[in-house]
Amino acid sequence: MSLSFTYQGSPAQIVFGSGASKRVGEWVEKIGASRALVLTTSHQKAEGEALAASLGKLAVGTYADATMHTPVDVTEEAVARATELGADCVVALGGGSTTGLGKAIALRTDLPQIVIPTTYAGSEVTSILGQTENGEKTTLRSPRVLPEVVIYDPDLTLGLPVAMSVTSGLNAIAHAAEALYAPDANPITSLMAIEGMRALKEALPVIVATPTDGDARAKALYGAWLCGTVLGQVAMSLHHKICHTLGGSFDTPHAETHAIMLPHTIGFNAEAAGDALAPVGEIFGGTPGQGLYEFAKSVGSPLALKDLGLTEADLDRAAEIATRNPYANPRPIDQASIRALLQDAWEGSRPPL
Ligand code: NAD
Repeated sequence: MSLSFTYQGSPAQIVFGSGASKRVGEWVEKIGASRALVLTTSHQKAEGEALAASLGKLAVGTYADATMHTPVDVTEEAVARATELGADCVVALGGGSTTGLGKAIALRTDLPQIVIPTTYAGSEVTSILGQTENGEKTTLRSPRVLPEVVIYDPDLTLGLPVAMSVTSGLNAIAHAAEALYAPDANPITSLMAIEGMRALKEALPVIVATPTDGDARAKALYGAWLCGTVLGQVAMSLHHKICHTLGGSFDTPHAETHAIMLPHTIGFNAEAAGDALAPVGEIFGGTPGQGLYEFAKSVGSPLALKDLGLTEADLDRAAEIATRNPYANPRPIDQASIRALLQDAWEGSRPPL
């Protein structure tokens, strides 16, 4: 076997464990800060306020308007609030939307970030930031947006609704599946991807049956960390491209879109990336696309794009946008084959491979 690769580890500090979020104050001090602004969505406002109260004089306030796809006007308002309060760090408590706001603030102010993830999206361990302005979503990569400290506390995910646990978990699996055939994949990212998928495959059915099972919650969050880490370290292809198109141009919800598309995009690449995707077949059973489809179905995931409000007429435009700019993908992409793949995903049918 001839091995040849490059590998770049992440400088982020990862803290994992039940109850770990009770020590946020220690981490604020460790990074040399003393005036934290706590960020959440409006949905998690009460949790953010409780966290700020627990930080005592280490918190200067909260901002509870984080919004999906990181709209620039929301970021500008949050930056103004951070400046007005003299914040010297942000503490983001929530899913990818809240993490995204923290990153967008860091991009503009270089404030250090402590992130406490409560979904499986994985954004907290990537230097990727997607932002929307005038109805357009653009993505950038910058070391400036990579959070300094990530505190994974499974206790905070005990109340993550089952439906969201399932789609968010499949969103994480999608990072790992695409990482396996990434042009810049290396032995470390593949190990992490396989371990991450296996952890989520084992944890999600238990969470569906018993949402408050602490061991399964810990396993799922551990898997999400691994899957997010590989998302941050190697290039993504067809799957992430299509989901970005659907979310950015048709406003479909992030995790659900990933969950529905995953069996189809991985099935599309199943032959061209046969060796790389073999672990997906081993973990989920059958061919990679069909194994993922059956698994998604078994945990009650949505399966059809038509259920997200997308019309059949939208599919032509989606195929055109998703194939407009070339990018690396194991199987060559053309508009007709992507249109056919979208049709299957729209109908929710079992992928051919
Ligand atoms: P989200 O952050 O939008 O959360 C969805 C809803 O669930 C929100 O109202 C949130 O407050 C609530 N929620 C979160 N955790 C909860 C919990 N434990 N209990 C109850 N409610 C909870 O959803 P998401 O899927 O985590 O993130 C999606 C966003 O993240 C998108 O904008 C996507 O583009 C971005 N993202 C970015 C990256 C990256 O690397 N840049 C990676 C993944 C996702």
